[in-house]
Amino acid sequence: HGISPFLDPGPHTKANSLAILQLSRDNLLPVYLQPPTGEHDGYAEGAVVNTRYGSFPHSTMLNVQWGSQIRASKVDTGSRGRSLKRKREEGDDACREATGASEKDNDDSATAATGDSTPAVKQAVADTSGFIHVLPPTPELWTTSLPHRTQVVYTPDYSYILHRIRARPGSVLVEAGAGSGSFTHAAVRAVYNGYPAEGRRKGKVFSFEFHEQRYHKMRKELSDHGLDGLAHLTHRDVYDGGFLVDGNSPEADAVFLDLPAPWEALPLLSRRRPASLDMNGSATGSKQIKWVSPLNPNKSVYLCTFSPCIEQVTRTVSAMRRLGWVDIDMVEIANRKLHTSRERVGLNLNFDRGVNNSAHDVEEAITRLAEIESRFRDHAAKPGDGDEEMDSGDEAAGPSGQNSAATNGGTSAEATSGTPRWMEGRLITRGEPEIKTHTSYLVFAVLPREWTEEDEAAAAAKFPVGK
Ligand code: SAM
Repeated sequence: HGISPFLDPGPHTKANSLAILQLSRDNLLPVYLQPPTGEHDGYAEGAVVNTRYGSFPHSTMLNVQWGSQIRASKVDTGSRGRSLKRKREEGDDACREATGASEKDNDDSATAATGDSTPAVKQAVADTSGFIHVLPPTPELWTTSLPHRTQVVYTPDYSYILHRIRARPGSVLVEAGAGSGSFTHAAVRAVYNGYPAEGRRKGKVFSFEFHEQRYHKMRKELSDHGLDGLAHLTHRDVYDGGFLVDGNSPEADAVFLDLPAPWEALPLLSRRRPASLDMNGSATGSKQIKWVSPLNPNKSVYLCTFSPCIEQVTRTVSAMRRLGWVDIDMVEIANRKLHTSRERVGLNLNFDRGVNNSAHDVEEAITRLAEIESRFRDHAAKPGDGDEEMDSGDEAAGPSGQNSAATNGGTSAEATSGTPRWMEGRLITRGEPEIKTHTSYLVFAVLPREWTEEDEAAAAAKFPVGK
């Protein structure tokens, strides 16, 4: 099979491959683009995605450059077409509303209709003007659009985790539980090293999940995403069965545990046979008969556990200390989104009925207007050669080469100010007022490699001291 579209999507969309449809800023829909297979229930288009922004036959999204804007089809083939038709028949003008899709509305539901579920009625919708963008799959986009079967690890957490546990091309990473596969996708990309040269290890993720249905769903997803050879999923309770794969050590360099009781899994992530196994072979209820460490014997191993409650952290840290883990460290990622935009006039007032603008907002708006006025006055007063920059923002306007705006097809405002319209205004950045979500506590630790007398002798032979 080819390289996964998550790792190399190529320049264009392809049939039978995953694409992420961006309906509005935060509304993403994963869709497997289907080849046109002739008539589907009377539709030449084949499968169709129906959204409040219009209908998008898969055929219009195939073999286009990633990132393309796709306009809604003039032919509405889905449920929306049906309801519009009904409304029209009822003489209801409200049907116009349904097509006036707004980018601000992101609570829309889209149905990925296949030929099977589309009605055998073709409905021409002349005023459909919506559009979507077709994006290549990435772990980040997948995280925000995947079908949730469990809580998932989000991008701000996993980007930091993967960095701290030193996941890099060629690393072998062990993960439990797999859950919805959000972390797995990001981990695979981090360790992917293509086809490594002779003698070099292939980066791989070994993932474990004990919930049977989730295991099967994720197996299918990994396969559909072309990740079979890079992520290996095992159906197992790791507290009980540990982390070997077909009885062999995955030789993990890095470990990520998103489990309710990481301290129960830690004894099986040792370098030496855990005492709990020595007593009667299964003090932890382990069915592992022979003991092989699942860790890379030649390297320090980096671990992260992910737990929502501080009590879980306490128990995990205690187990880590007893099992020889060092550099134990807890982090909480407090992610805050910043929204940056340009405010052309600088008014930040809301004139909706019932909204009271604060005295501070009013004062700030007046100050900004005064600033802008004074800039215009200064500009007009200058004995200019018609080529100066009109600094309309906090930071410098574009390079002076852009000043002759009239030549780059600018608007009249551009022509007078020399600043492209999109660069006009103050750059305003607003943060979310407070951090809303606590996700989990991240506990990091390192298990140093074992260093034996033989290792010391070998090192001494290789790097003789004082000779
Ligand atoms: N990290 C995942 C993601 O980003 O999508 C989410 C993991 S979810 C919070 C925890 C998963 O661990 C669940 O799917 C659960 O079935 C699994 N699990 C819990 N205990 C387990 C065990 N002892 N062995 C294997 N999997 C386990």
